[in-house]
Amino acid sequence: MATNFCRLNFFLCLLIALLACGNSHAASGDNSGLPTVVIDAGHGGHDRGGIPGQRIAEKDMNLDVAQRLRNVLAANGYRVVMTRDSDVFVPLPTRVAIANSYRNAIFVCVHFNSTQRRGAAGIETYFYSRDSLPLASAVHYYVAGGAPSSNRGVRRRGYYVLRKTNVPAVLVECGFLTNPTEASYAQTASYRQKLADEIAAGVRGRNSVSSARSTTRVATSEAIPMQPYMDQTKVTSSKQGKSKRSHKKSARKKKSSSKRSGSEARSGSTNREG
Ligand SMILES: [Zn+2]
Repeated sequence: MATNFCRLNFFLCLLIALLACGNSHAASGDNSGLPTVVIDAGHGGHDRGGIPGQRIAEKDMNLDVAQRLRNVLAANGYRVVMTRDSDVFVPLPTRVAIANSYRNAIFVCVHFNSTQRRGAAGIETYFYSRDSLPLASAVHYYVAGGAPSSNRGVRRRGYYVLRKTNVPAVLVECGFLTNPTEASYAQTASYRQKLADEIAAGVRGRNSVSSARSTTRVATSEAIPMQPYMDQTKVTSSKQGKSKRSHKKSARKKKSSSKRSGSEARSGSTNREG
């Protein structure tokens, strides 16, 4: 589209990224060795997230969990940067630019899911680069393992914020706000705190992921199994991440042990961007 607009956008991104750098240095101490965690609360401002007419604004749930996650990680000594810390709209390139402005960083996007089908439920974790799989595995292991919701698995997919970040990056969908049960969970502060605690556990455990394929959650925090994943990078939407999705039933049934439900692969989520 208009190149002037693109150029303006680019400089805006740069500016905001630089500002974010400045803030973060002030906001944190010396954390030798630990990565900076860039937390990305999905949507914001005029972008409510979710689907049209959705009662609970996804952007608010995302921000709340993201802020709780920030608090948990900061208490664990991590330097944390928020791509947004209030109800504002932040363009996706800006979110990416912030993440990419740190050399030793990981990027964690927090979202909730939605779909017209009220029955759809469960936790999904997305990644794109292979380097991000251990982080995705650890985050998913804890979030899906700790939530009462069903486990919709780890998925590889080329969402913009995952594709364009050059640090390990994950996007966790913390349940469906269009599902009455999961919506009621999400509306309790204790549940959102639980989600934040579990995501933080995943961040802390990202280096303890073994390649042994197991889907059961074990008691020790030392051995986190690398999660199997569905590769959705070939999904035939014209562009990754628009609100429209194909309703194709690629019923790729894949049975594996435990409560993992590889089957709902394409049926539920709206596959929104950012
Ligand atoms: Zn979202």
